[in-house]
Amino acid sequence: MKKTLQRPVTPLAGVSSPVVPGIMPSVVYASDTPDSLDAQYEGTTQGFTYAREGHPNAEMLARRIDAMEGAENGIVTGSGMAAVAAVLLGLTQTGDHVIGGNGLYGRSLRMMAEDLPRMGVTTTLVDVTRAEAVAEAIRPETRMVMIEVVSNPSLRIADLDGIATVCNEKGVLLVVDNTFTTPSAVKPFEHGADIVLHSVTKLLAGHSDATLGWVAAKDSALNERLRVFAVTTGMTASPFDCWLAERGLATFDLRFTRAQDTAQRLADMLAETPGVTRVLYPTRADHPEAARAQSLLKGRGCNMVSFEIAGGRAAANALTTAAQGIAFAPTLGDVGTTLSHPASSSHRGLTPEGRAALGISEGFFRVSVGLEDPEALLATFADGLAAARAVAG
Ligand SMILES: *Cc1c(COP(=O)(O)O)cnc(C)c1O
Repeated sequence: MKKTLQRPVTPLAGVSSPVVPGIMPSVVYASDTPDSLDAQYEGTTQGFTYAREGHPNAEMLARRIDAMEGAENGIVTGSGMAAVAAVLLGLTQTGDHVIGGNGLYGRSLRMMAEDLPRMGVTTTLVDVTRAEAVAEAIRPETRMVMIEVVSNPSLRIADLDGIATVCNEKGVLLVVDNTFTTPSAVKPFEHGADIVLHSVTKLLAGHSDATLGWVAAKDSALNERLRVFAVTTGMTASPFDCWLAERGLATFDLRFTRAQDTAQRLADMLAETPGVTRVLYPTRADHPEAARAQSLLKGRGCNMVSFEIAGGRAAANALTTAAQGIAFAPTLGDVGTTLSHPASSSHRGLTPEGRAALGISEGFFRVSVGLEDPEALLATFADGLAAARAVAG
């Protein structure tokens, strides 16, 4: 019998179709002829060639997040920081100036402080709760302003609309990292942003088992530059991670609604608890940008609550030890509640004075509220706070 070569074929293709997308780990895609490959590269037909340039799972996930943000042709990257890097490194050149919010995610701050200057791009960090602070920092060579709507970890609310107006007037790109707020609370493109990005790792994927990012520019030429930079620098996302994130997205709205309800209750409970010296939650009347939070976040406050307890590091240790069942871990947006202590984690690189300027003391905590039974969660916090009080004396 004549021997033949066999390539894998999908069983039942065209007969019935799966209701759940498959995971497609193939790195390479075979084409029929050089002509059909040409057509693909020239964009007259659609298809995949090599996974670093794009693959079905990244494509499916990107289209879903595009729909949530009101974007077109967004790009899925291997992490949220890859999305940040694609923007900060891929769209700037020597001589440019970049403005960032002083409460940006720690690694974004680091890229602004260390990596951009190394390439001859100067940076300025400003208080983005005031659009005037951004206006004052803009120079003729300013290329972009990068902000988060809700800052980390003090949960201050940026003047998104005011900054968009300033950027638009000056012809400066406005980049919004929408990880904390998510398109459920804010759709930055509707407020005049030019570029929106996410750490999909956090609330969108939601289960702390996939590391991914997403970025899109409103202008198609700029978006294409981001795509080419991401492909050239190898910011490829894993098909399995994309598949997990897509599965996570199916419950995103439910998760975010529930987490916000519980976060509100936790914030109110903390404010009533002796030994708690400060509570930061956007919907509370005592929040410094309470009115802006109401209008910008549609009356919701995100799933993050920050607070400070008396008694310094010793009380902080007692709290994390006694709050059994709450992961003491520096992440956010997971199905489980996580407690982070910025002084020993995200902001440990700063001097005590630098931390104090941001309101971060040894007793300062940030909670990412998850999906546990709210009563059980509040009771656990009550236990932790009682232990902290016992130490604080
Ligand atoms: C986590 C995070 C990032 C970085 O995302 P990774 O997926 O961890 O690389 C960027 N911005 C914000 C606001 C984040 O919380």
